[in-house]
Amino acid sequence: MKRLLILIMSFFTLVSSTYAFELFYPTEKNSISSGEYAFFVGRTFGGESIKINDESIYVASNGAFAHSVKLRDGENRIKIKSDYGIQFFKIYKTTNVQNELPTEEFEPQHAIVNFDNTPLRSTPIDAGLNRMSHLFAGTNLLINGSNGSFYRVLLSENKVGWIAKESVTLSECLPLPAEFITMDSTRFKNAMIQTITMSQRLPYTIEDSDKEIIFRVYNPFLSTNSVYNLNIPKPEKYTYNVTVDKGKYTFKVKKLTENENDITIAIDAGHGGSERGAIGCLGTEEKTINLKIAQETASELAKKGFNVVMTRECDGDLALNDRVNIAKEKEADIFISIHLNSIPANQQMDIHKTRGTEVYYFNDNAKRLAETLEKTVSSSAGTKRNGIYPASFAVIRPTDYIGVLVEAAYMTNPLDSTFYTTDKFAKNVAKGISKGICEFIK
Ligand SMILES: [Zn+2]
Repeated sequence: MKRLLILIMSFFTLVSSTYAFELFYPTEKNSISSGEYAFFVGRTFGGESIKINDESIYVASNGAFAHSVKLRDGENRIKIKSDYGIQFFKIYKTTNVQNELPTEEFEPQHAIVNFDNTPLRSTPIDAGLNRMSHLFAGTNLLINGSNGSFYRVLLSENKVGWIAKESVTLSECLPLPAEFITMDSTRFKNAMIQTITMSQRLPYTIEDSDKEIIFRVYNPFLSTNSVYNLNIPKPEKYTYNVTVDKGKYTFKVKKLTENENDITIAIDAGHGGSERGAIGCLGTEEKTINLKIAQETASELAKKGFNVVMTRECDGDLALNDRVNIAKEKEADIFISIHLNSIPANQQMDIHKTRGTEVYYFNDNAKRLAETLEKTVSSSAGTKRNGIYPASFAVIRPTDYIGVLVEAAYMTNPLDSTFYTTDKFAKNVAKGISKGICEFIK
């Protein structure tokens, strides 16, 4: 009898471990969320059906499934059940009401920027697409308001910016008004270079308008009408940057050549090492697929005659800044960051339906490349075309190169998981990227 019981028990254990489903998201049984939906991503093993809160959900032929459950305020209990297993989740939904803070006004005061690359923003929010420029350390600012963790920066009569309080040091006295010293313009090979020299560092903005790129330096210490503009006509495909030496700003707009041998492309495999990226329905790690695609892409592009540099060539940790610095050091003209997508950023979307290729850009100079790649990658890889979107990702923010971030497919989509787990997927994405770049430069 005892032996029979052991036999029955071991049979049961065998069945449950072979056929019970596995969940990769969420990773916690109890959690707090301010999102509209909770997402469930996982796989089954024996072709069994899955019910979430008694609703049958779609399971792909390889066992992958993904589902979103709309959350009510307060406690939500969610039951996931297959023929052989059951799991319970408790998610507490908090209401996330953000009150807009009023701006506190004060008499103009002098502040000095602490570090290079400090964002000057159009709103007092530390997120999104509100960057007006990146200021250098030692820039003199006139601030006259405070909102949350930001100071308001007075630029000109009808223009203000915002800067994080922690990025500046307040000074007791106002500096002398900056003096304009000289302006200059030169052409070098395929670049237009303009300089403006002031007696001290001042705030600036850059506007990428229809026909030209406008670099503006503001001297609010002299008067709120004191603005100096450098306008450079915009080539069709271009990169640009600003450097500073004491009070001398050099603004350079470079035209992209059409010759493959003169073009350097940085290929950036997203995540790596301890940072695994998104986990797919089948438990696949994003970082591994990113690297495969990156390697294939690098070799496709090298075959076409481009100079190629990879930010990482093996599975290791790499900071976002280092990725950018590698590309800048090698003077990359184009930067392609390779990723696979996960939970839709738009929380209203149904995770099960969200699939396909998306391409992200931050600067206007990368929009056309994003459009081209969204088309060529999805057509080569067989994925759905899911659009291009502006987004503030650190690796595609520099204007020194034309930077885009390709999300080849959705890790969390059951149908996409039948693509990205195949051997030919990386090759097909790589061919799509290479074709897109060739189309773009001609
Ligand atoms: Zn990623």
